[in-house]
Amino acid sequence: MKQTYDFVIIGGGPGGTPAAMALASSGKQVLLVEKGQGLGGTCLFEGCIPSKILRESARRLVEIREAADFGLQLENQALQIDWNAIQQRKQNILTKRSMGAQQKLKQIPNLELVMGTASFIDDKQIKITPHAGDSQTISFDKAIIATGSTPTRPPIEGIDLPNVLDSEQILSIDHLPEKMVIIGAGPIGIELAQIFHTFGCEVSILEAGAHILAPVDQELAEQLKQQMMDEGIAITTNCKIKQISETTNELSVSYQTDAGESLEESAEIVLLVTGRHPNTDGLGLENTQVEFNPQGIQVNAQLQTSENTVYAVGDVIGQPMFAHWATAQGLALAKNLMGMNVPMPDKQTNSAVIFSQPEIGMVGLTETQATQAGIDYSVARYDFAQDARSQISGRASGVLKILFETQGHKIIGVHALTEGADDLMGEAALAVKTGIPLEALAGSIHPHPTLTESFAQAARMALAKLQAGMKK
Ligand code: FAD
Repeated sequence: MKQTYDFVIIGGGPGGTPAAMALASSGKQVLLVEKGQGLGGTCLFEGCIPSKILRESARRLVEIREAADFGLQLENQALQIDWNAIQQRKQNILTKRSMGAQQKLKQIPNLELVMGTASFIDDKQIKITPHAGDSQTISFDKAIIATGSTPTRPPIEGIDLPNVLDSEQILSIDHLPEKMVIIGAGPIGIELAQIFHTFGCEVSILEAGAHILAPVDQELAEQLKQQMMDEGIAITTNCKIKQISETTNELSVSYQTDAGESLEESAEIVLLVTGRHPNTDGLGLENTQVEFNPQGIQVNAQLQTSENTVYAVGDVIGQPMFAHWATAQGLALAKNLMGMNVPMPDKQTNSAVIFSQPEIGMVGLTETQATQAGIDYSVARYDFAQDARSQISGRASGVLKILFETQGHKIIGVHALTEGADDLMGEAALAVKTGIPLEALAGSIHPHPTLTESFAQAARMALAKLQAGMKK
């Protein structure tokens, strides 16, 4: 380690790492500090990637189970789930990706990576405690905090019992549980519920709010909820968890419904997915002017904290908490710190995917948000039941909704529930970000037979309706 750096970046996840690489590539002296065992953050080790690896095995399992629908007969081969092999495959991918990221970093001459913990001494100095070796104080010109977030453990009696797990622990569980109660029906809870249910675990979800996936388009969320319940996942909304207790072999979760009824659910595992809180502990923020609260570090529009020399990006500054959002912030901040003056990422054009089965993809405003903002909007719809590609895949259900301003037809939101909605969101993000009118989607030639045709179809049908309305 040197004594002085232009930039110190704390946290080697999707927010901090790209910022460090961009700044170092522009010639700045950069120190990246990561306190985990590898480079990649929550996204790589406990979030996006491991959950998608387990999900991929679950998806393949569904495909094999449905093989007969596609004219493929399995004979004399009982299908076995080898959980150890699934976990090993997961571990191999994580290690490969983390090592790959470290190799990439090594090729950037001005970028130094230290595996260890960083803590502010004041607005110009940080104490670095490496995993191996002595602590050192270094000076910096500017610092970026990208320390991410941690699962929240709500104050419920019995929350610390063994087998009450959070999302990070469940992803590495050493066996497939027989029954799981999931507390929380947000994106992570829904994704994990379907994965474990597919593997044969009995799953019951308890949600305090009135809806699953609260920020998502309600029509899509309700369709998904119905489908999950039809598949055998129990979902109870509007309930208040009272206590988790241990019985002879199991855990028991007692809760109250909004009708005042007291009920209990027993399970081998209770999975807590009630949100995440920003990682501000142990950072020495009390030695600086950086302001923060339980929602995260406070930043201005330029992602600068109340301390002039310190910036923050990603989960540590609060919602939304997505890897691509953290990266977009990290990269935009790095460019601005290089003097490029680029616009900061805008929440209203952010994209997100709920990795349910089928996925929900969303970009821009929901109907609720558009109404609250007083926008005069219309909706172009497309039903995937009539879609060629969906029928070929045996997944002909779901809906696409494109929200557009009634005057001028500017696209302001896209929401889709269908298998493949995740990959549709790239085009959707471009449409919302550039603010193109519905006519541009209708007029662009989408390849056949692909799910992307849904955009042009929805747009054409909506424009035809508008024209017919005008002629009347
Ligand atoms: P992190 O990725 O959390 O990285 C922060 C890093 O800072 C960590 O590596 C930590 O060790 C380090 N650190 C903390 N304190 C210190 C310190 N004092 N000194 C040095 N280092 C420190 N997002 C998506 O976009 N798509 C998904 O599919 C998705 N799936 C998810 C599934 C699950 C189960 C979970 C839990 C999350 C998922 N997310 C997903 C969210 C995503 O993981 C986060 O939004 C993203 O990782 C945030 O990036 P970050 O860089 O802000 O923080």
